[in-house]
Amino acid sequence: MAANKDFIHRFLNYVQIDTQSDEDATDQPTTAKQRTLAELLEKELTSLGVRTDYDREHCYVYAAIASHGSGFESMPPLGFIAHLDTSPEVSGSSVKPRIIQNYQGGDALLKEEDFPELTRHRGEDLIASDGTTLLGADDKAGIAEIMNLVQYFHDHPEEPHRAVRIAFTPDEETGRGTEHFDTERFGAKEAYTVDGGTFGVIEYECFNAAEARVMIHGKNVHPGSAKNQMKNACLIAMEFASMLPPAETPEHTEGYEGFYHLDRMEGSVEQTNLQYIIRDHNRKRFEARKETIRSIAAYLNQKYGEGTVDASIRDQYHNMAEVMKDHMDLVGRVQKVLSDMGEVCVTSPIRGGTDGAALCFRGIPCPNLCTGGYNYHSRFEYASVQEMEKTAEMLIRIAQLRQ
Ligand SMILES: [Zn+2]
Repeated sequence: MAANKDFIHRFLNYVQIDTQSDEDATDQPTTAKQRTLAELLEKELTSLGVRTDYDREHCYVYAAIASHGSGFESMPPLGFIAHLDTSPEVSGSSVKPRIIQNYQGGDALLKEEDFPELTRHRGEDLIASDGTTLLGADDKAGIAEIMNLVQYFHDHPEEPHRAVRIAFTPDEETGRGTEHFDTERFGAKEAYTVDGGTFGVIEYECFNAAEARVMIHGKNVHPGSAKNQMKNACLIAMEFASMLPPAETPEHTEGYEGFYHLDRMEGSVEQTNLQYIIRDHNRKRFEARKETIRSIAAYLNQKYGEGTVDASIRDQYHNMAEVMKDHMDLVGRVQKVLSDMGEVCVTSPIRGGTDGAALCFRGIPCPNLCTGGYNYHSRFEYASVQEMEKTAEMLIRIAQLRQ
């Protein structure tokens, strides 16, 4: 049951279509160009005999494959989800994918001294960009792997499998990938996102996430006559930042350790804005972190006058483990498939979130599967052809599991 080799060509084709999303846009999709890939996929799905349902307005492609074979008709549909967009952080236009056959180190872009895990990929074929853009394996590797499953069941009509539901979604990278996700049109009550990295890793725990926007209102006066008059918002912002625990930042934390991340700051004496993201796997600690932000704001208001600091906090997503704990069979099936393939399954907590996290809280338990891609959101992004092939095989086997 080898993966269809065509799917690497598919992947190379998808990454050359610019689908970068835009964090500052208010509409969905955040960029119209994501529709180019959505429309191509709809066409490809249709040509493979799959029933599609394209929400052109919001740029979601849904597809349904009926079950085949006795025993499978009574099993509920299983969903696979991947996202169309690429990260706004690095350019995704004019991506020129390069295939490095039989990687042995020594690539001008992918240097083992910079990325030690590359030594594990010696002997594999790697796909990278030319170094001026990201590659877009996040998440076009996932899309290609799902499309390979469609191709496989099309080419092998005799192969039994469960009913499969597919969704390709926009704007995941802006945190809005499920904003217009229609659970009814999707039609599966359990699913996997195919949006991870290292082959063999399944993720079913993620951060609780919130965003804090801290606005500091100062009072500008000519510096020559500012004594006892001026309130410098820049300095108060620095004081705010200095009151947060210095070791609880992304660059000092790992595993289950949470953090405050000052993502953006801009300002002047009159007004300074700080933008934080707050992350913690543990719900109680997460709530406590938000409280810390509020209490610092309250303290500074006491010190500098009411209305000086204005902190607004918005929850972004919650840890899917809260939902997944009652649906661990979804994890068990992947473990079974990987052990059948003679591979090792690793579970690890996501230090981020996925569309699956939001879907978990909308009635679709949805852990995240690997893709075989690495160094996401970077000019150094790459994918291992061999890991992509194994992932593609894994997806087919999951759809064929009788449990
Ligand atoms: Zn992704």
